[in-house]
Amino acid sequence: MEILEKAKELEKLGRKVIHFEIGEPDLPVPQKVKERAKEALSKYELKYTESTGIPQLKEAIANYYYETYRVVVEPTQIVITPGSSPALMAALKVVSERVGTVSYPDPGYPCYKNLLKLLNLEGVALPAFEEHGFKVQSFQVSTPALIVNSPANPTGTVYSRWELEKLAGKAFLISDEIYHGLTYRKPATSALQITRNCVVVNGFSKFFLMTGWRLGWAVVPKETLEEFTAILQNAVISPPTLSQLAALSCFDEEVLSQLKENVKTFYKRMKAMVEGLREIGFKVPQEPEGAFYVWADASAFTDDTYRFALELLENVSVATTPGIDFGKNGTSRFLRFSFCTGMEEISEGLERLYRYLRRR
Ligand code: PMP
Repeated sequence: MEILEKAKELEKLGRKVIHFEIGEPDLPVPQKVKERAKEALSKYELKYTESTGIPQLKEAIANYYYETYRVVVEPTQIVITPGSSPALMAALKVVSERVGTVSYPDPGYPCYKNLLKLLNLEGVALPAFEEHGFKVQSFQVSTPALIVNSPANPTGTVYSRWELEKLAGKAFLISDEIYHGLTYRKPATSALQITRNCVVVNGFSKFFLMTGWRLGWAVVPKETLEEFTAILQNAVISPPTLSQLAALSCFDEEVLSQLKENVKTFYKRMKAMVEGLREIGFKVPQEPEGAFYVWADASAFTDDTYRFALELLENVSVATTPGIDFGKNGTSRFLRFSFCTGMEEISEGLERLYRYLRRR
């Protein structure tokens, strides 16, 4: 956020900043979804809906689980939320209370730790090491519950079915599947393909490109539904009505195939980014298998990527995210480069870095 604010300041001064720090897909929301929203806006008053979302959208999501993973999910097991973040927060609360302490990956999405802290819950950071492909290993797990994030932010790592099975054998999983659909080798496995005794969190912000529409969901065990519902009734009242109605169009075959085409665009960007960063002298231990980030080791240039990120922004107006945002496990050597920006910007950003770092 600090980098983003500094980047904005520089832009106000007239500098052209290349944004490799933003974790928000730049591609446009499918036209059909926008049209559905327009139609809904003119037809309905858009009052509150059921606190866990409209039944039609739950049915569409349940059907999507069958089409995508061949798993049968009852629509009533789905709670729809304003973005996946409240689903994550509710999951942390319910699972911590029912099952016990939750571990989370380090490096990992910072909100896991922050939400646990906000909820005054104990959490345990589990180091995900480079030599293990940045994946938490089952032998490391000593808590009754665990957050897995595959494909992962910030590393782009994807757990195999077998790896997830081993983790599910050790702990109750909260599976953050927000980057499902954005994979470059093979499709990601859902925790629901392995066990029914898990909470899966997903949403419309990544593959579906609808960040500002604030829509996500969780698939939860039936016996926890009451608790999830009570939290959501009180914390959010209902997910946004307009977004829910528009999202019904996300599952049209035409829209889904358009969204799948986008993965090719992300793949090309990923390849260009990995290749470019390696040429410059960054070490990319692992080509991302999913999501839209490259986790790059900058130890050829620095041992403090926080200062380095500021230096790059000041000197060549290239914004990146310092590794320390994602944990403590060797993260100060790393920068996260997001490829949520066009090929031209990617080339220009890499070119600027190349010229600057060669001189430095
Ligand atoms: N999980 C992960 C791993 C994320 O990267 C994000 C967004 N950056 C989210 C959850 C939350 O996204 P949203 O609330 O927009 O669904």
